[in-house]
Amino acid sequence: MNQKLSIIIPVYNEEGNVDRLYEKLIKDLAQITLNYEIFFIDDGSVDSTFSKLQRIHLENNKVKVIKFRRNFGKSIALNTAFTKVNGDVIITMDGDLQDDSEEISRFLAKIEAGFDMVSGWKFPRNDPIAKRLPSRIFNSLTCKLTGLKLHDFNCGFKAYKKEVTETISLYGEMHRYTPALAAFYGFRIAEIKVRHHPRTEGRSKFGFSRIFKGMFDLITVKYLTTYASRPLHVFGIPGFISLFIGVLIGLYLIFLRIIENIILGDRPLLLLSVLLIILGLQFISLGLLGEMITYREVKRENVNRFIETFLSD
Ligand code: UDP
Ligand code: MG
Repeated sequence: MNQKLSIIIPVYNEEGNVDRLYEKLIKDLAQITLNYEIFFIDDGSVDSTFSKLQRIHLENNKVKVIKFRRNFGKSIALNTAFTKVNGDVIITMDGDLQDDSEEISRFLAKIEAGFDMVSGWKFPRNDPIAKRLPSRIFNSLTCKLTGLKLHDFNCGFKAYKKEVTETISLYGEMHRYTPALAAFYGFRIAEIKVRHHPRTEGRSKFGFSRIFKGMFDLITVKYLTTYASRPLHVFGIPGFISLFIGVLIGLYLIFLRIIENIILGDRPLLLLSVLLIILGLQFISLGLLGEMITYREVKRENVNRFIETFLSD
């Protein structure tokens, strides 16, 4: 491989793993290329992870380390690393030795075959059933909502061409949905089965609560990748319907009051009319607000994310 390779590893309290991971990683990378860099993102560890990383950095200048002031989460860690790496191909992997760096060459083969992004599929997955079951539900839901047929969205082991990491942004729990975000921009995605080892040191950071947070971000990603270009179309339609019905009821009540001379008093219809009108106006303004934010997306500095090839001269 003659392109530069960047490996990104987010770590949060992984003092028992970083040294062994580093040793294995540089051994496996040496089989592939010497043109690489390793980025460790210390996501606010409170154990000795960072001092171990400092030592590794001092002995090997291919290893770069970013330390966060506090724990911001895996998505922010990856997002930050995406903006700092210099590679043409970027690999992300977990720092707990569950992902096996021997698999990196298989990811690269897929990239060389023309895919823009390669997503790992932990198979068989070496995690307790309490993790595997919710994960299975989550994966089939994500398939349905994103229309992307992958088996394992949440696998931390993935490869990206730099065009992909330069295009997508992540926060919250969105690291699970990078394939959906990439597909939205038209990138080609592949999935490969990867070996998965049980965690031997430290504890998993992703418990039950993250599943729920992940569900909310699934809604966000679904929204971003389907309707984001036209928020007014999402909120505007129910908004206008609500406004229209509210106004109709209002006109009817005005007719009753003026023509029929009926005292409206505390008619429920009056309340309904006011509610529908307010709701409608709220929805329409929400849509317009969304349009204003979306407008930034298509502004000059962002147009590159839509372009694959530019033939000129
Ligand atoms: N991680 C992180 N920030 C967090 C949580 C996790 O950087 O807030 C890292 C963690 O150190 C590991 C990777 O993300 O390298 C995957 O986490 P974990 O092994 O806990 O997830 P699981 O394999 O249990 O899904
Ligand atoms: Mg793990």
